[in-house]
Amino acid sequence: MPQMPRYGEFIFGDEYAGDVVATGRTVDEFRVGDRVVVEAHMGCRRCENCIRGLYTACLNYGNTKRGHRANGFTTNGGLAEYAVNHVNTLYRIPDGVSYEEATVVMTSGSPLFGLENAGGYFAGETVAVVGPGPVGLMAIQLVKALGATRVVLAGTRDSRLTMGRKLGADVIVNSGQTDPVAVVMETTDGKGADLVIDCAGGDDTFDQCIKMAKNGGKILLVAFYHGPVTADVSHAVRRNVTIYTERGEGGTSVGRALALLAAGRITAKPLITHQFPLSRVHEAFDVLEKRIGDPLKVVLQS
Ligand SMILES: [Zn+2]
Repeated sequence: MPQMPRYGEFIFGDEYAGDVVATGRTVDEFRVGDRVVVEAHMGCRRCENCIRGLYTACLNYGNTKRGHRANGFTTNGGLAEYAVNHVNTLYRIPDGVSYEEATVVMTSGSPLFGLENAGGYFAGETVAVVGPGPVGLMAIQLVKALGATRVVLAGTRDSRLTMGRKLGADVIVNSGQTDPVAVVMETTDGKGADLVIDCAGGDDTFDQCIKMAKNGGKILLVAFYHGPVTADVSHAVRRNVTIYTERGEGGTSVGRALALLAAGRITAKPLITHQFPLSRVHEAFDVLEKRIGDPLKVVLQS
């Protein structure tokens, strides 16, 4: 990732939770022993974007001298026994929510922030989600919590699609076998989806999103693409489709996702497929990299 220190020079991990073991001199918001979960981004608090609250789009991104931190991306993260976090990046874990669930709820922060950018209110709407990874599976639950009537989920792994169905998708489609655009059109009487969310970042998924959106509809890009992609953008322009993006879990979305979790509007447990002690971190990475046992979220405990 751009601006990431070289491998071996910093500590990974941008999704983590734990106990407060010490506080800074001026901190009175938290006490030793508080259970907290973090968000990765701490803006510089001095650029015009940060001043306007857009701290995940900080103009000093990666500039630690000016106070910016993105733990696990540009500064040390949470794959450790102890981590230093600015007070701005901590949220108290509600009673009844485990550390593991809180860690995974971080994954819903980015799509939730994106959904806020895209209007935040989807009552009665049809939403198509492309990519049933952890972020897509959270996006399904979030749009349902925000009022969406129908959710179509497209992806290539059947096990993940089945999980998507359990978490609220009304229609699932294996894009490797069936054209997902045709399914969205069929589901919406030829109109297209009100909102299409790309959580896959594949070579052709942006183009699929454009073709799935209805006239005047919205597209939200949550995934990072591996490189430049080809898409029929004029198809979006001609039909007044608006394209939104998001960067990270801005807008205090982690805190708000935690509230949804505590209220039972979203769930994180089904996404945790593997757990390891921190001492077996290499095994955990193996599981993810080699897709051993079809992992969704692998949680490490110290
Ligand atoms: Zn800034």
